[in-house]
Amino acid sequence: MSASAVVICGAGPTGMTLALELARFNVPFRIIDKAPHGAEHSQALGVQARTLELLEAAHITDRLLSFAQRVEHVRISAGSRPLIDTDFSGLPTSYPFLAMIPQCDTERVMCDALDALGVTIERGVTLTAFSQDAEGIVVDLAGPAGTERVRTRFLAGCDGAHSAVRHLLDLPFTGHALPERFALADVRLDTSLTPDTLHVHLAPDGGATALFPMRDGWRIIVESPHPLPDPPDAAAFDAALAAQAFPARIRETMWMANYHVYQRRVERLRAGNAFLLGDAAHIHSPIGGQGMNSGIGDAVNLGWKLALVIRDGVAPALLDTYASEREAVGRALLAATDYGNRVAFNANTMVRALRNAVLPVASHLPLVRDRLRENVAQLRIAYPHSPLSVNGSPARRGLRAGMRVRGARPAGYHPQTIVMRPHDEHAAITLVLRPDGYAGYVSDGAHAQGAVTYMRNVIGLRGEVSSPLR
Ligand SMILES: Cc1cc2nc3c(=O)[nH]c(=O)nc-3n(C[C@H](O)[C@H](O)[C@H](O)COP(=O)(O)OP(=O)(O)OC[C@H]3O[C@@H](n4cnc5c(N)ncnc54)[C@H](O)[C@@H]3O)c2cc1C
Repeated sequence: MSASAVVICGAGPTGMTLALELARFNVPFRIIDKAPHGAEHSQALGVQARTLELLEAAHITDRLLSFAQRVEHVRISAGSRPLIDTDFSGLPTSYPFLAMIPQCDTERVMCDALDALGVTIERGVTLTAFSQDAEGIVVDLAGPAGTERVRTRFLAGCDGAHSAVRHLLDLPFTGHALPERFALADVRLDTSLTPDTLHVHLAPDGGATALFPMRDGWRIIVESPHPLPDPPDAAAFDAALAAQAFPARIRETMWMANYHVYQRRVERLRAGNAFLLGDAAHIHSPIGGQGMNSGIGDAVNLGWKLALVIRDGVAPALLDTYASEREAVGRALLAATDYGNRVAFNANTMVRALRNAVLPVASHLPLVRDRLRENVAQLRIAYPHSPLSVNGSPARRGLRAGMRVRGARPAGYHPQTIVMRPHDEHAAITLVLRPDGYAGYVSDGAHAQGAVTYMRNVIGLRGEVSSPLR
């Protein structure tokens, strides 16, 4: 029986992100995927600002951006009435835009980065069974060379919506299917529209047509309460564009697909030494373009914690915080996408009238506008209630434990103590910066002792704890 510290099941964006993190941290692992190759189509298109920030540490953000169409404006209207007309300028990030990158390109960039680190994705290899004991997990794999039994300490289920890991753990994937039908087409258009703007037109019957710019064309998404042609055909997309008075006609079709949308998640992301991440743990409406981004966030959250446990002997209880932190994110994500669906795809005349009256006013209020776009960009994800979030000065305002620290991620897997002055504050603070760029411990003043205690008692690091960096 061969041995490995971690087996990553699934080499989609989530599994590859975890692989990139573990490879950077010198944690031994294997990554397998039953498919002979990665995504061939555009699928997840919207890469959010927070994801671009998180992927900087793996040095792939610039390459990803070379495949991106940057969307700077979003226009949502109902008929001829504008509801939301906003842009991303002033978003508190180095990436004040929505990067439209076809998932096949995102996966290619990740795969090339793994190659450069000497990591090979074992393709055509399927996880068929596993069992847990006191030492870890025994995994059964079936591949081109036959079957294999592998002993591993941890198993990361990054195996998508139909996750075998989730099924074998017998964890319920609770939720519901959305009644609406969705169809997408990647096309080249004859149009006067500029590719820096994303357009959504909401129809009175609860349907919607959206146009997303890509570097090499456009994506049309049609959402309909009525049956759509199956298989999808270009004429129906042209008709949907015409019905919503888009100044656009299809010149060439590259890919079309119909799909159903489900709102589902698991209650628990950890069962013993097995973890669920990405679509294996939560799936939801494409509204807001959150799916792939959330999986990448899951992987970044788990990676440094696994490294501390495997390489530094930190107590495995640290891994419970992956589950509690990301379960809260998954819960909020499903609530937000559910709400977004009900607002966007509503055929009730009263609800629509209320929406059409309130949204134009609300979206002009700076506070509402900023919250909305920072939420979509995943910049407001925070872990204030995590056991890892400790405020040394409980009454302080501004930066608090659990919040994202803008523009900061340590290079390695160790949290770092930093004495700094946040850009909108006057006095110095002491901060323990987690390797995923969130504040673990925050205290007024330049006192190292609280941070040292935090590293020992909360993170569980033994031995020498580094002194603050200024
Ligand atoms: C049409 C469409 C449009 C979308 N648009 C967006 C968008 O705009 N923004 C966004 O964020 N998201 C979007 N999504 C969702 C996005 O594609 C997914 O959220 C994303 O692919 C999830 O990544 P993942 O790595 O978690 O899972 P997957 O990408 O599903 O990867 C799972 C991998 O596990 C492998 N696997 C499964 N079972 C096993 C097994 N037993 N053994 C070995 N390997 C196994 C599979 O072969 C697969 O490669 C869209 C999805 C679709 C279909």
